[in-house]
Amino acid sequence: WKNAPPNLRAIALLGQSHADREFVIYEDERVSYDSWFRAVANLAHDLRARGIGKGDRVALAMRNLPEWPVAFFAATTIGAVCVPLNAWWTGAELSFGLSDSGAKALICDSERWERIAPHRGEFPGLETVLVTRHEGEPSAAERLEGVIGTPREYASLPLRELPAVEIAPEDDATIFYTSGTTGKPKGALGTHRNLCTNILSGGYNAACAVLRRGEALPEPKPRTGLTVIPLFHVTACSAGLMSNIAAGNTMIFMYKWDAVQAFKIIEREKVSSTGGVPTIAWQLLEHPERKNYNLSSIEAIGYGGAPAAPELVRKIHEVFGALPGNGWGMTETMATVTGHSSEDYLNRPDSCGPPVAVADLKIMSDDGTRELPVGEIGELWARGPMVVKGYWNNPDATAETFIDGWVRTGDLARLDEEGWCYIADRAKDMIIRGGENIYSSEVENVLYDHPAVTDAALIGLPHQQLGEEPAAVVHLAHGAHVSEDELRDWVAVRLARFKVPARIAFSKETLPRNANGKILKKDLFSFF
Ligand code: ATP
Ligand code: MG
Repeated sequence: WKNAPPNLRAIALLGQSHADREFVIYEDERVSYDSWFRAVANLAHDLRARGIGKGDRVALAMRNLPEWPVAFFAATTIGAVCVPLNAWWTGAELSFGLSDSGAKALICDSERWERIAPHRGEFPGLETVLVTRHEGEPSAAERLEGVIGTPREYASLPLRELPAVEIAPEDDATIFYTSGTTGKPKGALGTHRNLCTNILSGGYNAACAVLRRGEALPEPKPRTGLTVIPLFHVTACSAGLMSNIAAGNTMIFMYKWDAVQAFKIIEREKVSSTGGVPTIAWQLLEHPERKNYNLSSIEAIGYGGAPAAPELVRKIHEVFGALPGNGWGMTETMATVTGHSSEDYLNRPDSCGPPVAVADLKIMSDDGTRELPVGEIGELWARGPMVVKGYWNNPDATAETFIDGWVRTGDLARLDEEGWCYIADRAKDMIIRGGENIYSSEVENVLYDHPAVTDAALIGLPHQQLGEEPAAVVHLAHGAHVSEDELRDWVAVRLARFKVPARIAFSKETLPRNANGKILKKDLFSFF
């Protein structure tokens, strides 16, 4: 521990030191830190015996099962590069991930294997496939090449040391794919140092915020958090998993997101924190069955990854008495770059917070040549030890996006006098109506403020004279009614005329989102 190395071997050992504390709860399975570490070390030796070594890519494709953090650490602690694949992907999309990353090994659950097996012949370089949770004899499972054990066996595995492998902080550790919201997903190549950064910045920032308010730091105590977002995105892995292991917290995984299931778990396990993305927080608030459960253990609901309306912040505080938190980040920054919570957030509900202590932000002109003054909206650039080296297998996109240690985020934002960041829109989503810029989040937030509206998105429809005109798609609360004209009037008294949506469509369902809770705006054009 002399040099406190920023790598995943150190985090694994930190985790082991929590011994019998519960690490993961999944349905009726409970895995202690000790059992998890046994499984990690044994699988790490197994992977080595199968010829997996430093720099080899090990793809990981499964739901949030307790095996996920086992496979993740088994691969990364031997210096292999873990490639978490999106469990929502189809067989063809998973194949893209396997071939793009050049995976030498794949660790997956049986559901993913069913999808991948028909493509098996397309990956001559894929030498090892290990599957977990296969039941019976489904077609693809007949071609199983190896299995990894399930948590029931972990406690009885022999305790072994991790294989001896030297790892430097700048060694490659992961390839996480971006969400693919604006195009084809890109693989962000992260280092061990990148993965360790959230642990340092998160705790430090939270402590500084408490001291700034003149309050006493709370006693450190292990907490139980409900993880409802997928581990294959950086928010749940690089931010959530790493910080929880460092603190010895208990993580509860769900087979899939389900609000009522979540209420039951929160009540039974006295969960103190949950969240992940704004849409999950909305569903916890709006669900008619919420009142039937005792959710008083909830202390914090934090999220990031997508715009959050100020209305959400106020409601969380009002309804749960819990402290809302918001953070901004992207796959290319291994999660958190800005963040704030509690009073700071309640006072600036339209902000995603100041940068964490180890990050710098600047706002640049569109062409990237000029830094803009405080208060002006331009492209957000970020710098710090969390910014990845570049994109895997994509030198053109790397050269465009990573410049002198900064990442061009593609988000339009402004900073205030004190450095708090306000996201206005993605550059690709901003609407230009006859030369006037319309930032979607401003209009969406006003729509969210309407009592009947629970989901809202603004898109730009092509218009002959104006170039584009704004159109909104909204989803209303259960049993609520409001007309298109009434909603337009609601916006018109609050925002400039040119920002009022020319058309508003009503969606019976909540708006379509990807696995990371982001509204798929490209799918909304079919409403018009
Ligand atoms: P792709 O790059 O493939 O199009 P993506 O950008 O959605 O997909 P991610 O890396 O998962 O992939 O998401 C990062 C983006 O999410 C940011 O660029 C930003 O637009 C949005 N975002 C993240 N956190 C916040 C936040 N707190 N508030 C508003 N937007 C956020
Ligand atoms: Mg992106």
